[in-house]
Amino acid sequence: YRAKARGVELVEFDAERDTASVDRLALASEMQAALAADDQIVIQLQPSVDLVGGAPLGAEVLVRWKHPRRGLLSPASFIPDLEHTDLIAPLTRRVFELALGTYRTWLDDGIDAPVAVNLSARSLLDRELPEEVGRLLAEFDVPPDRLVLEITETAMMSELEIVDEVLTALRELGVRLSLDDFGTGFSSLQSVARVTVDEIKIDRQFVIAMGSSRQAEAVVRMTVGLAQTLGLRAIAEGVETAQQRAELVKLGCHGAQGFYFYPPLDPDDAKTVLAARGGPDGPPQ
Ligand code: C2E
Ligand code: MG
Ligand code: MG
Ligand code: MG
Repeated sequence: YRAKARGVELVEFDAERDTASVDRLALASEMQAALAADDQIVIQLQPSVDLVGGAPLGAEVLVRWKHPRRGLLSPASFIPDLEHTDLIAPLTRRVFELALGTYRTWLDDGIDAPVAVNLSARSLLDRELPEEVGRLLAEFDVPPDRLVLEITETAMMSELEIVDEVLTALRELGVRLSLDDFGTGFSSLQSVARVTVDEIKIDRQFVIAMGSSRQAEAVVRMTVGLAQTLGLRAIAEGVETAQQRAELVKLGCHGAQGFYFYPPLDPDDAKTVLAARGGPDGPPQ
């Protein structure tokens, strides 16, 4: 008992530890509480659209943390630190439950739009992930091809063998894979060659720079061409202006996501948007 209490003090006052790791420890215990609390971890969904007809294609699930003291936290403020803890797996499981539960209620109302869940680098090293995803799909009775998993090139670059094993097992489940933040990793072309994906998401930085930089425009053009050659769809991220939209249409980009179309929405609002997509035979993808 006492030893345990002293242990906690040691962690707090050990001069060897920098504040970052103390913060990380606090973050971990708060996240543990959040996962137990049941109403602190929530999701928003951001629809993506067909750039030609404007119809919604599906929605990306974005996690938020309703922190009791610090307010609504964006994933960028806690996911990177959690990557150093064992809490990514339970958090990812919670996000899957929320995402599949949401999709299930939509499908019950005749709305059949695929949902995309982001995977952390650490999840790609988790050999138990594919089985867990398979179990959750069965539990929520969701057809595997209605689930998209977004992975980044950077996340794919450590421990190639394990990552390839996990990605292969996920593909065998029948879920779809999307290459997120494309172009920002050190070996974008290698990741395209290495893993079979269904979709490439062009990172926002190229979309922003497209109008003012010939190089950025060339990257977007090349990525759209690469996707076309491989029979994948290209989705531009972070589209904020009509000009960017027009430019992307000109380049033949298939789809887009961004504040210009829809911000991340609460599940009910996302449902209203996606209802416009219609049933299983909705607009062509
Ligand atoms: P991402 O996968 O690239 O997600 C897109 C991010 O861009 C989201 O930020 C979204 O709100 C933001 N965004 C969308 N449209 C626009 C736009 O037009 N302009 C600008 N400036 N931003 C836009 P968010 O929700 O803060 O998420 C940040 C990142 O956190 C995500 O980047 C994703 O990598 C990660 N993330 C989100 N949810 C999860 C999750 O459940 N698990 C894991 N492991 N990572 C997640
Ligand atoms: Mg994403
Ligand atoms: Mg992205
Ligand atoms: Mg991004």
